[in-house]
Amino acid sequence: MKPRDRLRIAMQKSGRLTEPALDLLNRCGLTFRQSRDKLFCFGEGEPVDLLLVRDDDIPGLIAQGVCDLGIVGRNVLNEFKGTAGDGAATLTEWRSLGFGRCRLSIAVPQDVAYNGPNDLSGLRIATSYPGLLGTWLREQGVVATTITLAGSVEIAPKLGTADVICDLVQSGGTLVANQLRETDVLLQSEAVLAGPDALPTDERGDMIELLLKRLDGVIQVRESRLLLLQTSRNTLDAVTRLLPGGPQPTLLPVAGQPDQLMLQALCAGEVSWRQLEEIKKAGAREMFVLPVEKMLA
Ligand code: ATP
Ligand code: ZN
Repeated sequence: MKPRDRLRIAMQKSGRLTEPALDLLNRCGLTFRQSRDKLFCFGEGEPVDLLLVRDDDIPGLIAQGVCDLGIVGRNVLNEFKGTAGDGAATLTEWRSLGFGRCRLSIAVPQDVAYNGPNDLSGLRIATSYPGLLGTWLREQGVVATTITLAGSVEIAPKLGTADVICDLVQSGGTLVANQLRETDVLLQSEAVLAGPDALPTDERGDMIELLLKRLDGVIQVRESRLLLLQTSRNTLDAVTRLLPGGPQPTLLPVAGQPDQLMLQALCAGEVSWRQLEEIKKAGAREMFVLPVEKMLA
């Protein structure tokens, strides 16, 4: 194949991963001439173009060298690695991207007793992930029949075409609506940046390294929160001990209240209501959690 001088990233044309993937690339400073109805999107600033395809095609496009990178669910990537021939094993997750979170799980009809994977022996399991299911069944030492379906896996038990299913679950709402209950998690999944094991040695490799650095910055900021609160000096230690991980907090005096301090802390992840309530119990008040837009240390 003729070498390319521009980087090409494959992503889902239309689906759950499309908007968050584009948003992430935009935040990395990549913009594209809008031709979203087309297969190909030309990158404007940097020499990076997009190929918009079905998510299932993404690992194959990278493995064939048609694209340099792809944004795809770990479920799709690992299914490909497990079922395609030897060459496919050279695909790697370069980064996990924190969106498109879901899990691949076994679910059984609500009214069926289930005590563990052994209960699947001899059953028919409907799935779109025969590779991942097969590997898991082998690990469990269970022999069952895999029924491979392209979609609507969740209705197979009701239709009588399978006894149980192995499907993606996010909130679990679809399972409940189909009188199924989740029993075993085979894989925790999210969108990942996938690429070949080894970076290209030409300009495209340099561009990938630049992109990975920008991605790390974007991901770090996206997960950061600025926590602001007030505390009196005598509860400061108790409050500080409960702060979610991050660099040392900054302390500021509060005008007219010598006993009070304003505390400012950068937190490495989400700050939950529960954490806030605990910190409040320790003596904090006037608490704010703010998203961080940009960070330059
Ligand atoms: P395509 O037309 O590209 O093949 P699709 O129907 O296979 O689309 P989507 O339903 O858009 O794909 O899901 C894309 C990815 O989103 C999944 O592979 C998975 O990684 C992730 N995902 C997150 N939550 C869910 C969910 N509840 N159900 C299915 N996929 C989910
Ligand atoms: Zn798909």
